[in-house]
Amino acid sequence: MIHILKLAGNGIPQAWLSVEEAALHYAAGEVTWEAGQPIATLHGGTNAASGRRSELTVNSIFGVSGFGKVNPFDIVPLLTNDKLFRRDRNTCGYCGDHHHPHDLEREHIVPLSRGGRDTWMNVVASCRPCNQKKGAKLPHEAHMPLIYAPYTPSLWEDMILRNRRILADQMEFLAANLPKGSRIAA
Ligand SMILES: [Zn+2]
Repeated sequence: MIHILKLAGNGIPQAWLSVEEAALHYAAGEVTWEAGQPIATLHGGTNAASGRRSELTVNSIFGVSGFGKVNPFDIVPLLTNDKLFRRDRNTCGYCGDHHHPHDLEREHIVPLSRGGRDTWMNVVASCRPCNQKKGAKLPHEAHMPLIYAPYTPSLWEDMILRNRRILADQMEFLAANLPKGSRIAA
C-alpha cells in the first residue's frame, strides 16, 4: 500500500497516511503546500448546481500549517525489532553476516541483567549463535567487539524505517535530512 508523507508547517515529517486519510486533509482545505507527485485522484459527489463531480488529487508529499506541540527533536523513536534490523541492515553486529530478519535477534550490548537498558544506543541486530555466545557478557569480556556502532535514529530516519514501500520522491525528501553516518540511505 502506498503511503502519503504528511509534514508539519515547518517541514518536519509528521506521519505516513493512507490515501484516504490524506484526502481528508485535502477536503478540509488544510493542505498548504505539496511536493513529490500526484498519487491518486479521488472522486466525490456530484455538485447539484454544476452537475460536475468533485475531484481531489493527493500528492505523495504534502504539508499542513501548524507546528504541533511536541519538539520533534525531543522525540526518541519507538524501538522495535523491525526498525532495529533495518537500521543495522540485517547485519549481525558481531560476526557481520547478513541474515533474514527472522534469524536476527535484539542483542543488548550491556546485558539487561547487568543494568543495560532497552534503548537504541544499547542494542544491535545479532544472529542467534552470536547472541548465545555473548550471553550475559560485555563485548570485551566475550572477545566479541562490535563491528558497527549503535545509534538513535533521527525523526527523518525513523520515518524511513517505518515505511517499507517508500516512493522515490519521498525517499529523496527524507534522505536529504539524514545525518552523516546514517546507515539507512543508499
Ligand atoms: Zn553473528
